[in-house]
Amino acid sequence: MNNAERNLDLVVKEIADEMRQRTDRGEVATYIPELANVDAKAFGIAVIDAQGNVAAGGDSDTPFSIQSISKVFTLTIALGMIGDRLWRRVGREPSGNPFNSIVQLERERGVPRNPFINAGAIAVTDVIVSGHQPREALGDILRFMQFLTNDPSIAIDEDVAASEKRTGFLNTALANYMKSFGVIESPVDYTLGVYFHHCAIAMSCRQLAMAGRYLAHGGRNPSTGLSVVSAERARRINALMLTCGHYDGSGEFAYRVGLPGKSGVGGGILVVAPGKASIAVWSPGLDKSGNSHLGRIALETLTKRMGWSIFG
Ligand code: GLN
Repeated sequence: MNNAERNLDLVVKEIADEMRQRTDRGEVATYIPELANVDAKAFGIAVIDAQGNVAAGGDSDTPFSIQSISKVFTLTIALGMIGDRLWRRVGREPSGNPFNSIVQLERERGVPRNPFINAGAIAVTDVIVSGHQPREALGDILRFMQFLTNDPSIAIDEDVAASEKRTGFLNTALANYMKSFGVIESPVDYTLGVYFHHCAIAMSCRQLAMAGRYLAHGGRNPSTGLSVVSAERARRINALMLTCGHYDGSGEFAYRVGLPGKSGVGGGILVVAPGKASIAVWSPGLDKSGNSHLGRIALETLTKRMGWSIFG
């Protein structure tokens, strides 16, 4: 290990210790009953630098439900399938509303504001499902995650998927509402089935940080040299993560952390420090916008100590 690597390792371990000692943890999501079964005290962090060195702390190898973080990867796949035509079906503006809000859909003729709120992600999933059996579409998403991480063990937590399906009345309403405007093409239950399942993919911080490397390094994995998307597309996905990745908490996240990130109600956050690192944190307790409370604080501490904010 050289000095810079040693420093990063030290900072990450310090943060894991500091976070585990805190008692302000936020509230674990309960609207998907299966998510409430998680250990509220868990905390994990993994940072992978440009050279591929991994600095990890806490429960960095424990798989958790990635939930809305999957929306970054489904967006990547859908853009690969239909390119900029995607933007006819979903916008690129921050919503300023909760992740599961329906209000804007009426004003904007069923076109969701961005690909990271639930309505937008359901529309993106519909693009992937279009012309396929749900099982094939889901297989494609899962294989993409396995390819990005070079880890064939990544799987869907079927209990979480079933739990969300049973209680997903609001998501069903969003999908039906969009269907009435022609924004959803496939049968609503096909699209929702795939959506619930990709939200239920289970991954550890280490796996998630690995999956996000292409976004930190101009669209390609610097270790394998394999290109996932063009540099321009990676830049644009990062821009959407910065402006929309934390729902109505996106401004606050940019203000405090200063990096593109995407949260999920499982308590995970994937963050990109362009040219420097791919980062994943996990702490199941959420703030009022549905973003990991300690996850955000850990990231704020990390970017401050490393000087990684994109705003200088
Ligand atoms: N699967 C969750 C839902 O649709 C995702 C929400 C989230 O992570 N913010 O409600």
